[in-house]
Amino acid sequence: MVCDVLMYSETKIYRHSGKLGTALFGVPFIGILGGLVFGILYAYINVYFLGWRSDVLVTPILSFLFGAIIETVGDIAKCRNTMFMAMMGLLLSIFIMYANWVLFEFVMLNHKGITIEWYKIPSMFFDPDLVWENAVFINGRGWYGVKSWKPPSNVVWYYGLIEVFSIVGLVTFLVSVPINNAVFCESCDIWATPIHTVKFTLTENKTLLAQLKKGDIETLTQLKPTNKCPRIEVEIQECLSCYNTSTYQIKTVSLNHKAQEQKTNLTPLLLLSQDTKDRLYTIVLQQLNLKRF
Ligand SMILES: [Zn+2]
Repeated sequence: MVCDVLMYSETKIYRHSGKLGTALFGVPFIGILGGLVFGILYAYINVYFLGWRSDVLVTPILSFLFGAIIETVGDIAKCRNTMFMAMMGLLLSIFIMYANWVLFEFVMLNHKGITIEWYKIPSMFFDPDLVWENAVFINGRGWYGVKSWKPPSNVVWYYGLIEVFSIVGLVTFLVSVPINNAVFCESCDIWATPIHTVKFTLTENKTLLAQLKKGDIETLTQLKPTNKCPRIEVEIQECLSCYNTSTYQIKTVSLNHKAQEQKTNLTPLLLLSQDTKDRLYTIVLQQLNLKRF
């Protein structure tokens, strides 16, 4: 904390207000509904089409969609509380996993001639002992497989573990990361919009890099514009209603071993005062002119 204050004395770090908006009810409601729909999809695909392979092929896709939906609901509900979204991601992903199991057992047992009526599903949800007994029973019968090849019964539990980690990890990550990079205008009650990304050559000069890490925009006058990698990027977000809430964030972009661009934050989200914003736009225009001629 003390370090932040010293480092960004001239600027201010943007921080979320922590308000929940309508996310307190909206996120769990849509999350549980979505979890049930995805659970039914997972169960049918697993029992009738892909068997155990669903956990490798279908689970990551459903988890990705589930995370994206929860994140979108948090966004629409104007949730500015990263901790709440991370908790929701964690709890709802545990729920979707449990729903997957319950609905899979329901579809599998019916498929194998052990009739369970639809109206018994809610009571299955509240009976974890029965869910576990069914899992042991299905595994013991070797039904958790497809056509001729089936994983040995003792390996099935490892598939279960992979399932748990992929769902919980992916969903929690997807739900909590975007809100961390977003900016909210409290006076207009809307999210700010990313409006510009300005790109400069990456300097190896340690003094200049240290200045950039402090969020010093004057340093940018010493850099040339570029689209190539590695480079420095300055991302500007602004409230398109009042134009008063604006932030910038300085990042480095480099290529990883797979030749994909990878961004690293040099600064947190920093608030742009009107003066700094004018100066930043002047620098950007000068650099763009330099590039043009
Ligand atoms: Zn505004």
